[in-house]
Amino acid sequence: MDFMSVIEKQGVSRRDFVKFCTGVAVTLGLPVSMGERIAEAASSPKRPPVLWLSAQECTGCTETLLRTNHPTLEKLILELISLDYHETLNAGSGHQAEEARLKSMKENEGKYILVVDGSIPVKDGGIYCKIGGQTVQSILEDMGSKAAAVIAIGSCASWGGVPSADPNPTGATPAHEVLKNKGIKTPVINIPGCPPNPYNFLSTVLYFLTLKKLPELDDQGRPKFAYGRLIHENCERRPHFDAGRFANQFGDEGHRKGYCLYKLGCKGPETHANCPVILFNDIGAGAWPVGTGHPCFGCTEKGVGFTLPLHSPARPKYITPPALFDEVLPGKEGASSGIKSLATGVAGVAIGAAGAAMLTGLGKKDDEKQDKEE
Ligand code: SF4
Repeated sequence: MDFMSVIEKQGVSRRDFVKFCTGVAVTLGLPVSMGERIAEAASSPKRPPVLWLSAQECTGCTETLLRTNHPTLEKLILELISLDYHETLNAGSGHQAEEARLKSMKENEGKYILVVDGSIPVKDGGIYCKIGGQTVQSILEDMGSKAAAVIAIGSCASWGGVPSADPNPTGATPAHEVLKNKGIKTPVINIPGCPPNPYNFLSTVLYFLTLKKLPELDDQGRPKFAYGRLIHENCERRPHFDAGRFANQFGDEGHRKGYCLYKLGCKGPETHANCPVILFNDIGAGAWPVGTGHPCFGCTEKGVGFTLPLHSPARPKYITPPALFDEVLPGKEGASSGIKSLATGVAGVAIGAAGAAMLTGLGKKDDEKQDKEE
């Protein structure tokens, strides 16, 4: 049965699938017309073999793929790729699973995609994580050297994540460093997040399938389409930041009113990711940490999440205007006119300056004054 028949049987019509692929094209920063091409590549009978290696991880990255619901993303992924080895999802286990892994590696040498989930312990010869009696470090070196590309999924595989938090007892190391230290040149793409957004993973796979190359990456190996902007730039609470309205404590009036969480330690101003744009779990507006009232933890940024104290103030990288808001309201009185996005450049400078002024004034603005303004 071909791909389209399979997904139609699962309730996804061809029209919906093409619409979905067009959405992926837009997410990837490609022309809308690429939607058809992505759909074509995705429905090709030749499915790329994927081997999924789990190291020091919590299975959250796999769960995030399996718990999406619209369109049935996990089904799309499982139909799009030939998932030859995944410890959690394998039907077999033990020797059977190991045989499947080795067989696929042999048959698809140089062609398979290796997904690495979790950090790699390298301390004491890598003894803190073993599969089938072998250290996961040696398995990664072997599998990574024979793969077409490596996708490090989640913060742990991308830059160490939870297991690498101080004092890092196992020597938890990201996948790309383990491969680099061994002189292995297979390209590695990092999709950090705890958990990562499944659409970023799917979009990367679809990009690779369609254009036969990896998407453009930033200096940390992350796809620019997903990690090109700061969370702070697209956050729905950004107008409150610009206006100097903050929550000072969990549950205070500012918090209840949905004000900016900067003073509670939100790391959005120094964390790159598209969380506020694509959200989680397909349930609509507000479905991301800041949307639910918790400061951004910085899980997609090396040196922020699992490294800095949770509630210490962020060190904003730069202040730019929000990328998505259509208009910026100058204040309660003049709110009706606003600054239209027509004048984006001018507004950008103005907001940038306002943001910078806000930043310098953050420490000075006392709570009493803020309450009065409210
Ligand atoms: S500091 Fe956090 S809550 Fe405030 S606007 Fe930036 S990202 Fe949003």
